[in-house]
Amino acid sequence: MPERIIFSYGEGLRIEDYEVGELGSNDVLVKIGFGGLCASDIHYMDGEFRYGLDPIVPGHEGSGVVEAVGEDVDTFSRGDQVIIDYVSGCGSCLECRLGRENWCESSEYYGFERDGTFQEYMVVTPRNLVRTPRNLSLKESCIVGCAVVTPYHAIRGIGGVWDRVVLVVGLGGVGLHALLLSRLLGARIVIGVDIDGRKEDLAYRFGADYFIDASKFDPVEEVYRLSDGSGVDVSFEYVGSADAIYTAIESLGNGGVAVLGGLFNKPVPINFSSLISDEKRIFGFEDHNHYDLVSLVSLIEDRHINLSSSISHVYRYSEVYDAIDMFRSRNDLVSRIVIDFG
Ligand SMILES: [Zn+2]
Ligand SMILES: [Zn+2]
Repeated sequence: MPERIIFSYGEGLRIEDYEVGELGSNDVLVKIGFGGLCASDIHYMDGEFRYGLDPIVPGHEGSGVVEAVGEDVDTFSRGDQVIIDYVSGCGSCLECRLGRENWCESSEYYGFERDGTFQEYMVVTPRNLVRTPRNLSLKESCIVGCAVVTPYHAIRGIGGVWDRVVLVVGLGGVGLHALLLSRLLGARIVIGVDIDGRKEDLAYRFGADYFIDASKFDPVEEVYRLSDGSGVDVSFEYVGSADAIYTAIESLGNGGVAVLGGLFNKPVPINFSSLISDEKRIFGFEDHNHYDLVSLVSLIEDRHINLSSSISHVYRYSEVYDAIDMFRSRNDLVSRIVIDFG
């Protein structure tokens, strides 16, 4: 019998056998190869945000191979390698029809409101699948559905970063790919900030020109020094802390744009006088749309994007507790941790 990882607020995580239900006529059965472990999974398990289903199979990053399709599915067939698109809109409301599935009022995201990728076999609608890029392995493809597409959605949302001076605050899985995509999409200067000084080499490998160790230096002062006193044009915040949000906003020069993307649910003081006088703008971006993912897969193929440095750890699903311990402890240098279901 297949196995899956189950989380409930009462009992925490466990691994259990389950039966894959009968496949509906418009369903696709995917044999999951890999599932990525994201900071938001940990935020939800810690109760900072609540899952919409309890118990739930967590996991919103995933890739796998189509095992079977329902009789009405003609867009995928057995053997196709696919990425799971966890942003599951209703498919029929105005937002969904305009391609803004992440604004859908009745969305039920895989891994948050319905069972996610941390299982050996997953039933998914074809609207929530995208073929893997031809140049990526199943393992690398698994992180495309959150860690890579989240900053891509934000970069598209602000109209690109061409010729901009860009700051990325927080170099976890999402932040590192914000560096990589900013470099690839034409940013003039790319600066990475993290409180873990061990991230320096990783930052350069992902395209940063400069790295600021926020445990040793005041990041805002350093940003001004590195940008000859003018501040940055665009900042991306992927930590979810008051300090990181402060850094992202205060590092902006005139007309700068701050993109807030780290999950955070506490009040943050903002310096309104500089916000107004310098005409700064603050945007929130979360998740992505299906078209972002389709377009990103093409970009990865066209530009031969290599994600081999993106995954630092692979654990078997039976070792999920070790994976979470590593995520929390940071005993090693972590970029992305993925869980192997193959
Ligand atoms: Zn995620
Ligand atoms: Zn909808």
